[in-house]
Amino acid sequence: MISVIEPATEQVMAEVPRAGVEETDAAIARAKAAFESWRRLAPGERAGLMRRLADALDERRDGLATLEARNVGKPIADARGEIGMVVDTFRYYAGAPERLLGQTIPVAGGVDMTFREPLGVVGLITPWNFPLCIASWKVAPALAAGNTVVLKPAELTPLTAIELEKIALDAGLPEGVLNVVAGPGSVCGTRLVEHPDVAKIAFTGSTEVGRRIAAGAAETIKRVTLELGGKSANIVFADADLQAAAEAAPLAVFANAGQDCCARSRILVESTAVDDFLAALERSVTALRVGDPLDDETQMGPLISADQRETVSSYVPDDAPVAIRGSAPDAPGFWYPPTVLAPVSNSDRAATEEIFGPVACVIPFADEREAVRIANDTIYGLSGSIWSRDGARALRVAREVETGVLSINSNSSVRVTTPFGGFKQSGYGRELGPSALDAYTEVKNVFYATEEG
Ligand code: NDP
Repeated sequence: MISVIEPATEQVMAEVPRAGVEETDAAIARAKAAFESWRRLAPGERAGLMRRLADALDERRDGLATLEARNVGKPIADARGEIGMVVDTFRYYAGAPERLLGQTIPVAGGVDMTFREPLGVVGLITPWNFPLCIASWKVAPALAAGNTVVLKPAELTPLTAIELEKIALDAGLPEGVLNVVAGPGSVCGTRLVEHPDVAKIAFTGSTEVGRRIAAGAAETIKRVTLELGGKSANIVFADADLQAAAEAAPLAVFANAGQDCCARSRILVESTAVDDFLAALERSVTALRVGDPLDDETQMGPLISADQRETVSSYVPDDAPVAIRGSAPDAPGFWYPPTVLAPVSNSDRAATEEIFGPVACVIPFADEREAVRIANDTIYGLSGSIWSRDGARALRVAREVETGVLSINSNSSVRVTTPFGGFKQSGYGRELGPSALDAYTEVKNVFYATEEG
């Protein structure tokens, strides 16, 4: 059995059966058996079933949000927002089955046309930080395109995925279309990657495991999309609205207790503005409400596990340049206070590695050129922000920063309708928006000769 721990109390909140190789093989077989009829379903019918699933999730919104908040330790307000996004994601992709358009291409001697064909059984491996949200980014476009799926949630947070499987069946999705296996990545994840009946793996998690998955998938030439780690830069120029940038910066890295691949954990500040920025930042960080995830007012909860807290602590040794420290409850739970290190060099360990906890580094820069150089001096390339009142400069820098997702005078860059994914070792492939469907279809080209005789 998997004992599921509630991070805010350290108590066991549920016990669920632990799947192994046998259960994974059985789920793949069910998905394979369901594929032919799912892909042949009339587009309007597949769209209708996805809308019913979205409605069923909507009805269960509050229960799912509470389950997610307790299992991850995330603030209930955030969890509600995420479940809202899950519903919106299923609604958005419910429009896709009837819009999977091909092309006609001018050629000699006939008509040339393309079709977007589903891949077959798709294996989805998801992390513990945004469990149902990230699962929906994969499940919804995969199903819309006519694939069947086996979803493996992280062992630490399997509960909402298990609910999703039940809700999908209740909503009328045929048996075998959406299957969940809750078990260890080293067993169930590995099996999905090596199984010849799995056509594609979509993974979100650490760069280290992503690398292993890409290597394993090469054996059977599986399609792979990877959404991996990040070390994103929040670039604040001296001409920015410093107050707005400093008020927004804490939740751009401390939301979800910093366990966010998009966390803007390197705050690059133009040297002449560092003192003013830090003063404003201190007010925002110390005002953060850290505590019970089920309290509506809470902005930051605990970390996911004791192991994660130990890892995070290792980035803040006794001699670390701690400039700002927020609060954290002195009670059971994997708490860690929001912490800002300043000034930090971009080559320090805290600035180069993904901490995945509430620790931010403030790194001064001299000018635009240096800001871009530092922002790009990382193996990662997922997200980031640029704060400036000079619009031309903001756009210039946006074109230079090597990441997949950026925002200007804002830290929000993940939306149902726009593409999300990384450059460099943050992975490849795009989720959300129209692009996600490319990752769950193959393009087929058909030539039809029309010449007489
Ligand atoms: P992992 O990459 O280990 O886990 C992500 C998912 O992959 C989980 O479902 C996990 O299963 C599964 N998995 C683990 N090993 C394998 C494998 N060999 N083959 C197939 N699947 C596998 O992340 P962690 O949970 O260990 O977190 C470690 C670090 O990764 C974090 O501190 C953070 O830096 C980064 N991370 C980044 C995320 C992102 O959104 N980019 C999300 C999560 C983590 P299981 O956990 O059940 O064993």
